[in-house]
Amino acid sequence: MKKNFILFLFLFLTFLKSDAFEQGELKDIGIAKYAVIEARADYSPVRIAPDVNAGRFSHLRKGFVTYADKEYKNFYRVDLGLDDYYWMEKKYADIQAIIPQKHIQKIDEIKFDEDKEKYSVFIPLNIQNSYSFKEVPDGLEFYLYDVDCPDIVIKNKPGSFSYDTKNNTLHLKYISPALFGYDVIPHKKGLVLMVKKPPQINRKKPLKGRRIVLDAGHGGEESGVCAFGHKEKDVNLKISKQTKKALSKKGAKVYMTRKKDKYVPLYDRVAFAQEKKADILLSIHQNSLPNPKDVTKKHGVGVYYYNNQAYALANSIQKSLLKQTGFRDDGVNFASFALTRPTYPVSALVECGYLIDKNEMEKLTNKKFQKELARALALGAEDYLRYLIVF
Ligand SMILES: [Zn+2]
Repeated sequence: MKKNFILFLFLFLTFLKSDAFEQGELKDIGIAKYAVIEARADYSPVRIAPDVNAGRFSHLRKGFVTYADKEYKNFYRVDLGLDDYYWMEKKYADIQAIIPQKHIQKIDEIKFDEDKEKYSVFIPLNIQNSYSFKEVPDGLEFYLYDVDCPDIVIKNKPGSFSYDTKNNTLHLKYISPALFGYDVIPHKKGLVLMVKKPPQINRKKPLKGRRIVLDAGHGGEESGVCAFGHKEKDVNLKISKQTKKALSKKGAKVYMTRKKDKYVPLYDRVAFAQEKKADILLSIHQNSLPNPKDVTKKHGVGVYYYNNQAYALANSIQKSLLKQTGFRDDGVNFASFALTRPTYPVSALVECGYLIDKNEMEKLTNKKFQKELARALALGAEDYLRYLIVF
């Protein structure tokens, strides 16, 4: 009886939900067709459905503009001129104007530049338009929307890039067997697409000269997991300091987002890594479970990544940690965290173990074990670089 009732309730709610979406609440934006909306913060998400848990199609940097043609609940529907629509949460978007049609900007020329470490493409724009990236097996695709470039002049294009234009979209493709960080950098006269080159690796000393930012998770008023009298923030810092030593010994230049017990906002940590022009950003944490009584369900070490380019890093680190610690395998996992989402630098987040598990806690808080962990993290990063590109 009870089961039937729950099933009924579920079907009823599903019916209500789809009904509302199709008939009721998708509203016109105003008297004209489009709202010009501006991203309110860096990394404002553009999602594939009007749901805060829906996948991200793209991020927009602060001040970048896109066009919404409808609104639904807390979302604007974004029209990029593609077959599908995308969605931006209203809290990330400021309406600048209501207009009858989109501003399609004309681009006459784009200019490539290249140095030892990266390619830069300067795209002149009056308004910073929306864009998206797509990682593909043979490289990276970049799309810039709402532009018109019939007679575009391309200057200094390296052989590793191709381009085409259609449907008011500029499409650039970077062809490379491995990606090593990329981003859009706002510029006062347009934007710069930046793509880092995979480095020439010294196979015997892969870490030599590489810049690595270590992020000891939490800090200050934010303790993280608290268990058996230990605070995650302290364990993270101790392991991070040991890891800095281990990486430095192998020739890496290591920076830390915090060196003491203080609060650092998440996006400041990412910005710090970008300022340091890091090759790798590694965030160090200790795990827990939503319900501590579930302690028997999950154990061990796990590494998290978001962008495909970071999978190889996450996987190398996980392999090395498993080998060195003997902890159970909690997997290489896809997860959308502030410290896994950056496309630059290549970023991963490590959960060294479960602090709420007594056996693991005893190890994670032991100095000798922390040194072993640090050594394993350094070996993992080293292997990642060693096999980044196999010629
Ligand atoms: Zn944490």
